Amino acid sequence: MENGATFVIVGAGLAGAKAAQTLREEGFGGQVILLGEEPDRPYERPPLSKGLLLGTTPRRDVYVHDAGWYEANNVDLRTATRVTGIDRAARHVVLDDGERLGYDKLLLTAGSTPRSLDVPGADLDGVWSLRTLADSDRIADALTEHAHLVVIGAGWIGLEIAAAARQHGAAVTVVETADLPLQRVLGDEVARVFADLHRRHDVTFHFGVGVRQLRGTGRVSSVLLTDGTQLAADTVVVGVGIQPNVQLAEAAGLKVDNGIVTDARLLTSDPHIYAAGDVANAYHPLLGRHIRVEHWANALNGGPAAARSMLGQQVEYARLPYFFSDQYDLGMEYSGWVDDYDRVVFRGDPAVVDGTAPEFMAFWVKDGRVLAGMNANVWDVTDQIQALVRAGHGGRAVDLATLSDPRVPLGDLLG
Ligand SMILES: Cc1cc2nc3c(=O)[nH]c(=O)nc-3n(C[C@H](O)[C@H](O)[C@H](O)COP(=O)(O)OP(=O)(O)OC[C@H]3O[C@@H](n4cnc5c(N)ncnc54)[C@H](O)[C@@H]3O)c2cc1C
Repeated sequence: MENGATFVIVGAGLAGAKAAQTLREEGFGGQVILLGEEPDRPYERPPLSKGLLLGTTPRRDVYVHDAGWYEANNVDLRTATRVTGIDRAARHVVLDDGERLGYDKLLLTAGSTPRSLDVPGADLDGVWSLRTLADSDRIADALTEHAHLVVIGAGWIGLEIAAAARQHGAAVTVVETADLPLQRVLGDEVARVFADLHRRHDVTFHFGVGVRQLRGTGRVSSVLLTDGTQLAADTVVVGVGIQPNVQLAEAAGLKVDNGIVTDARLLTSDPHIYAAGDVANAYHPLLGRHIRVEHWANALNGGPAAARSMLGQQVEYARLPYFFSDQYDLGMEYSGWVDDYDRVVFRGDPAVVDGTAPEFMAFWVKDGRVLAGMNANVWDVTDQIQALVRAGHGGRAVDLATLSDPRVPLGDLLG
């Protein structure tokens, strides 16, 4: 059936584009239709808050494939095309112009959408979130040395925008309800490193406080905090998290719970429908639970894994969650998954000495087992960190004194 089959992919982001590529690389000869509501062909989002804002990444470098790749590979890419429904009984997707497309197998890679702020003034001009190329363009235009930027939410994207804005000379204030940036993801020990990093670059933080109102006439001019503080602002970027685009799946009656629920093959509760990338809450065999991963590497690898699964190959998607970030002179990678830890072990000194960026690793440990590891300004150690994390989640403890000792190669820890 395969060569006469039609595989439809909903969501022309990284996961969807990489899935289409894998279908062709694996020799699938049927029809591949890739549907995306954005006007652009698939692109990667990490540069949107880094190189595109800094002006160091040319726009042509953000695309997943050259413009001619889709036609050359017989992938029917339809941009500016929104899917409005899935008819599971008929195995059709319905497009916004009413067209119905039949599928033999369907992949949902619909990604996610930034959460908005539910306060008066959130719709003022100059109050933006960052998800698309268009968002990045208008934020980039606003980041001049005279700008007053208020970032709401000290997560990865908010902090990266803060860093880019400071590098343009803008005045930057970050507002966060928690006590530290990235506190929920990293815990206090490593979150403090990021607070220090941004303070060193003259970012002002307001922690433990929310936003009551955004004020202005037409365009935002100030932000009123819940403690009564008023901050001057000509641009506000809201980075308070994302929610998976599950509406289509929900309306079609697929199992949804913090994302579209899949097994380790990335198969949903419908035997003809798969999901990958930000939108999927996939069973992770090593962690023994479902996880939804909102990171680039999961789209890069999950899309292809789903494609192979659609082709009937034996797939068990067991990649460790991995992400990276770049802020000022600190580049980092993180591998693993932590629900609960009892200590953080540092290898190297996370403190800034004489203005030099720190080089260190940090490990989140429970009962001597490494559950996650981060390398900051230290490179080519991801494989070794991931080996430690896999062993840790598999139940194996390591000697923590050795773990913290930079003189002992990481590879020696597992014997
Ligand atoms: C600014 C920014 C910076 C980031 N930086 C990093 C980083 O440094 N490191 C890292 O690990 N991760 C980073 N990420 C996260 C990473 O980019 C995402 O995890 C990744 O883009 C997810 O890919 P995806 O293909 O699953 O979804 P998306 O990239 O969201 O693509 C989904 C696509 O589906 C489309 N769509 C949705 N519904 C429909 C529909 N009904 N019909 C048609 N099309 C539809 C959407 O419009 C979208 O184009 C960043 C994200 C952003 C926004």
